[in-house]
Amino acid sequence: SHKTLIIGAGGVGNVVAFKCAMNADTFGEITLASRTKSKCDAIAENVKARTGVTIKTDQVNADHKEEVIDLIRKTDAEIVINVALPYQDLTIMDACVATGTDYLDTANYEHPDTAKFEYKEQWARDDAFRKAGIMGLLGSGFDPGVTNVFVAYALKHYFDQIKTIDILDCNAGDHGYPFATNFNPEINIREVNSKGRYWEKGEWKETEPMEIKMVWDYPEVGPKDSYLLYHEEEESLVKNIPGLERIRFWMTFGESYLTHLKVLDNVGLTRIDPIEVDGCEVIPLHVLKALLPDPASLGPRTKGKTNIGVVVHGIKDSKEKTIYIYQVKDHQDCYAEVLSQGVSYTTGVPAMIGAKLMLQKVWYEEGVHNMEEFDPDPFMEELNRQGLPWNVIDLESPEALKID
Ligand code: NDP
Repeated sequence: SHKTLIIGAGGVGNVVAFKCAMNADTFGEITLASRTKSKCDAIAENVKARTGVTIKTDQVNADHKEEVIDLIRKTDAEIVINVALPYQDLTIMDACVATGTDYLDTANYEHPDTAKFEYKEQWARDDAFRKAGIMGLLGSGFDPGVTNVFVAYALKHYFDQIKTIDILDCNAGDHGYPFATNFNPEINIREVNSKGRYWEKGEWKETEPMEIKMVWDYPEVGPKDSYLLYHEEEESLVKNIPGLERIRFWMTFGESYLTHLKVLDNVGLTRIDPIEVDGCEVIPLHVLKALLPDPASLGPRTKGKTNIGVVVHGIKDSKEKTIYIYQVKDHQDCYAEVLSQGVSYTTGVPAMIGAKLMLQKVWYEEGVHNMEEFDPDPFMEELNRQGLPWNVIDLESPEALKID
């Protein structure tokens, strides 16, 4: 039977552990390892109680390649599902090369000192992965991840040529706190405070953070303010979808969230450069993270839905058309199933599905790959089976997505 190693025991790691256990005939012997072993043990206990499946736990600091290599050898894993933080992507990838182990993650590498969001350093490992005879699947979460698969599905079944893509990410969940982030606060705030960027007619256009806004009517949720951000799947989709004329990414933010963020920015608490306090070096954003609710604790109190999808416009049989593929998930349904809120759920389930298709060799190609490079159909079927059913609708007017 197969052997699977999951690294990272946060909100997403919890969901991946549950979902792998629920698909134990594929994942076989499962080990969950993280920096803090007690978090792994707590998850393993819940998984055992709810699914009857026993998963092993271990401790690892994945900033150190040698520790990851030792752990892979000890567990004899065939695949590593990396749901730690983006800072660990390269050390874990290198450990996979050294041990001949397949690799999957949900977020592109970031250096702790600069918020860059690019695939460069991971793509640069393509040769090493090929030489080691292993596969790396990058960005197998929801966005990136399912959004890339939605685009591949649109291209396969609905279009001869895709012209524009708008990715629309809405979290209408309410956790009752004045300010909290739904996933790792440090990663979240770095992303939101970065300049906006989109791609049009062959070039990247930069905006100030939150400069461009529109209102989009999300099915089953309603109209929400949506802001243009840069998001990493744009980089691979621009490369992999031939003839693309424009791609943009939109995310909803409530007024309260943005007001709090502005104040925190203004007082300097979101800075990622070290400052000195009473003789100690501290990074303000780390202080803020320590003060905010742990995203994993939002599960029981978050109500409402997420809706993430893609609007794709293009040509089929010489006619213009526009479709919307989207997925709606209820936060409380996620909690009832796997003790987590919707953002961790919608990330963790696709991570499990990507790993499942790799272990089954349904999606398998040596080297480092992005999601849209593979046949979307088996992934789309698994989404329906594993708790993330989706819809496709025709949009009559592509003008709906004009910025006002
Ligand atoms: P959390 O902060 O909840 O969890 C991160 C986990 O990684 C913690 O258990 C943490 O351990 C562990 N960790 C951190 N550093 C190390 C290290 N050096 N060695 C070993 N383990 C470490 O984050 P989330 O679960 O919310 O997010 C996990 C990943 O998923 C992130 O990369 C995030 O960017 C990505 N993500 C992707 C999305 C998508 O749609 N593609 C959406 C949301 C998230 P400890 O408890 O000790 O701190």
